[in-house]
Amino acid sequence: MADAGVLNVERLVLGPISTNCYIVWREGHEDAVVIDPGAFSPRIQNILKQHGLECRAIINTHGHPDHIGGNGALRDATGAPVYVGALDADMLAEPDDVFHVLARSGGQGFSLVADHTLEGGNVLRVGEMEFEVLATPGHTPGGISLLLPDDLTLFTGDTLFACGVGRTDFAGGDEEALWRSIFEVIFSLDERIRVYPGHGPDTTIAAEKAWHGRSRIR
Ligand SMILES: [Zn+2]
Repeated sequence: MADAGVLNVERLVLGPISTNCYIVWREGHEDAVVIDPGAFSPRIQNILKQHGLECRAIINTHGHPDHIGGNGALRDATGAPVYVGALDADMLAEPDDVFHVLARSGGQGFSLVADHTLEGGNVLRVGEMEFEVLATPGHTPGGISLLLPDDLTLFTGDTLFACGVGRTDFAGGDEEALWRSIFEVIFSLDERIRVYPGHGPDTTIAAEKAWHGRSRIR
């Protein structure tokens, strides 16, 4: 993997509540993964085109509408299958309008059946990239984080942000589960790992450990 080419991560901020969509590919290879296309935007396809990429997989870190809104259109445009954590699959079929995103995005068209579901411990190989699936429930029951261990890269969805954590007051939220996901799963990883969250800027595990160590009052 060491000489397989540097990992590229391109962030697009999409949709009515500024959700991070990531396009991930390895330099020198055409295979790309799109994580959380919160809304369909020509900017996704522009980046694919600009770098000569083929979208091979669409992965949702969880099933909230601001992360899944572009699934259908992107799947239609690229033919790439949609993946989501097994316990969130029903949220794609019947989106829960927690943020009134559906109405603000023009309404219908969100619902689809995921092509594949993922569980903690699964490894998804896409071209020369290897995504380890970590079960990180709490924000939603089926929330997952995606780890590329050789690249020290982690996508955390709405589980962990720079200086913050995901909300647990939506349907299916579980505060205890969220803290376990952060402290027992994510914080057990290599501290050098760069963290790409579902909203806001990227960070590192070391930085978040330091921040949570200072702020934790439990
Ligand atoms: Zn969310």
